[in-house]
Amino acid sequence: MSGGEARSRLRSALADTTRQLGEAGVPSPSVDARALIAHAAGTERPLVMVEELPEGFAQQLAHLTARRAQREPLQLILGRAPFRHLLLDVRPGVFIPRPETELAVDLMHQHLDGPPHEVVDLCAGSGALGAAVLDELPRSRVLSVEIDAAAAELTAHNLERAGTGRGRVLQADLLGEIPQLAAVAPVDAVLSNPPYIPPDALPRDAEVLEHDPHRALFGGGDDGLEVPRAVITWARRLLRPGGVLIMEHADVQGKAALAAATDCGGFDLLRTVPDLTGRDRFLVARRAPGEPTSGSERLSR
Ligand code: GLN
Repeated sequence: MSGGEARSRLRSALADTTRQLGEAGVPSPSVDARALIAHAAGTERPLVMVEELPEGFAQQLAHLTARRAQREPLQLILGRAPFRHLLLDVRPGVFIPRPETELAVDLMHQHLDGPPHEVVDLCAGSGALGAAVLDELPRSRVLSVEIDAAAAELTAHNLERAGTGRGRVLQADLLGEIPQLAAVAPVDAVLSNPPYIPPDALPRDAEVLEHDPHRALFGGGDDGLEVPRAVITWARRLLRPGGVLIMEHADVQGKAALAAATDCGGFDLLRTVPDLTGRDRFLVARRAPGEPTSGSERLSR
């Protein structure tokens, strides 16, 4: 096959795949078509650089396209999701990391006086936040807490890939007492993208509704904030004075999240931070000096 022939097959594959995905209601058909074509062609390079297509390319692409047309998330088809500088492994049944959550790591840096050494990620899912911390801060240690067994296993895998030996996972329910978590206080930062969707707000996208586990989406209680409240309470227990909690929430929950942190007490700076589209999406809460937090087991031991 000549380079010219490969390119002409790629051009028509791009047009066909984009059309099929568009007809299936996929929101970004041409971006997804390119990603599926590159996957079927077994390349990481831009498609214009591809000189040759592997045997079985057309069948493989048809198979991938059919999956995406059924609204299976692109990340699950490719088996990975970009998150900050990482390509995380993702698996069916585990919440897929979202680009908006990436901002939590920058907010942590902005609100601390130096790089954090000890970081806790609550409701870790695929392990995205903890893995990003390990990757970007070579001296950091992370403890990730995740309720679901399959997700906890994926977190352990992604932490290990990002920072061998510096990450640890606890499979536990934040609504209960967790002595091994209490024992790591005091830490510099608590990061969390907890479930927070209220019970009556169904996600619109089929990819989310049918593929993200509902336990990772719906936060519990009338307002979706049962698990986020537990995150705030844990942050108060775990953070050193001056340490920060960065927690994602829904765009309508800014005031309620601030109120939850005020009710919890123990913080001397509370703020709501918008995402890149201007919507309120993060609670920032800095631990006040005051009663000491106690813990016997250091993360860095
Ligand atoms: N952000 C999720 C969504 O897009 C909601 C749940 C979460 O991230 N914790 O559906």
